[in-house]
Amino acid sequence: MIRIGLTGGIGAGKSTVARVLTERGAYLVDSDKIAREVVAPGTPGLERIVEAFGTGVLADDGSLDRPALAAIAFANEENRLTLNGITHPLIGARTTEMIGAAPADGIVLQDIPLLVEGGLAPLFHLVIIVHADVEERVRRLTGQRGMGEEDARARIAAQATEEQRRAVADVWIDNTGAPDDLEPVVGALWDDRLVPFEANIRSGTIAPAVAVDEPWGPDAQRLVARLWAVCGGLAATIECTSAADSSVRVVVPDADSAHKLAEPLREGGFPQAAAGSYGSADPFRPAAITMDVAAG
Ligand code: ADP
Repeated sequence: MIRIGLTGGIGAGKSTVARVLTERGAYLVDSDKIAREVVAPGTPGLERIVEAFGTGVLADDGSLDRPALAAIAFANEENRLTLNGITHPLIGARTTEMIGAAPADGIVLQDIPLLVEGGLAPLFHLVIIVHADVEERVRRLTGQRGMGEEDARARIAAQATEEQRRAVADVWIDNTGAPDDLEPVVGALWDDRLVPFEANIRSGTIAPAVAVDEPWGPDAQRLVARLWAVCGGLAATIECTSAADSSVRVVVPDADSAHKLAEPLREGGFPQAAAGSYGSADPFRPAAITMDVAAG
């Protein structure tokens, strides 16, 4: 199984890209949809929101009155934290449940509008950013979606900047052009990268060294961040030793930690090459990881 994070600014075309990938066979975990489901009528989530904020947050039909809730929840920090304390664990549990139900060879696509803002990028095997110019996004939001222009611009301004998105993008899809332009780009991404990447993770195979036009280079810090997410507390230090050839050194406190990390590393997209050495399952991103046990 591979987990792909899909994000981008509002109106950029996340849902559109998600649809194309789902048609190819991706297993979609839509975070907006989950966020709505956990507070649907009759759920414990909605019950707890009413307990916390009163029946004023309910519409006449018993469903959540979102503008009313937003007015209360964003009135002060305490209310915001209370609301997040109710919804975040429910969303997390449902997300985990859905991922758990994905097939063993699934290409799991998580559509997360605030992936960059939440610092979640290192938790995925691959992050896809969908991009469109601001003016084009405003046109789409005010046109097809009927949003007011001021509202559209305020929402765009409240989200991550293009620079912040570029910093975590493994794949950058420009959707400023026509929707038809997406099909071949997303199709090639599926065939050439996602399918072999997933198969390599499952079989523990290091991707063959292909002529890569996009080595990690200055972006090696992304590789380091991803390794921290995989190794967690079992690593003492993780550092890039050569950005040019994506060499990273992981130091673990003892041989037991090294042993325990082999499986999480494989599942995280870094299969073992030999004792103390790991590579990358991503056909487009080589990595040379050495693992050393700290002296003394
Ligand atoms: P997001 O999920 O990122 O907010 P959507 O995929 O919902 O964005 O797209 C926003 C709006 O723009 C939708 O109405 C969609 O149909 C439209 N759209 C998406 N891609 C394009 C495109 N390439 N050209 C024109 N309109 C598009």
